[in-house]
Amino acid sequence: MVHGYGIGTAISNAPVIDFAMDTVELDGKPLAKRGKWSGSKSVLACDRCGTRRIVPYTAKGAGTCACGGVFAEILVSVLNHETLLAEPDAPATIRKKVMEAVRILEL
Ligand SMILES: [Zn+2]
Repeated sequence: MVHGYGIGTAISNAPVIDFAMDTVELDGKPLAKRGKWSGSKSVLACDRCGTRRIVPYTAKGAGTCACGGVFAEILVSVLNHETLLAEPDAPATIRKKVMEAVRILEL
């Protein structure tokens, strides 16, 4: 019986992006292990320079960026209790969005 598996970074060819996922809210109640920021968050991105901000989900107003751009929510709910909320984008649309996002990254 297999309960989990992992793939080591030593066998991947592409540069890896190190990330972790944590539970920060359960049934609408903030919940996180010590050292983590509890509660749901919004991820905002500037429409001009791509700068991102993470704010509490309940924060009001996205605000403006130092560059003059406007911050907007970039997370979109696609699933709610097994109900699909939106049809997925076509692969060509996804590629276009990714290429636009990568263009403004500082590498
Ligand atoms: Zn900006």
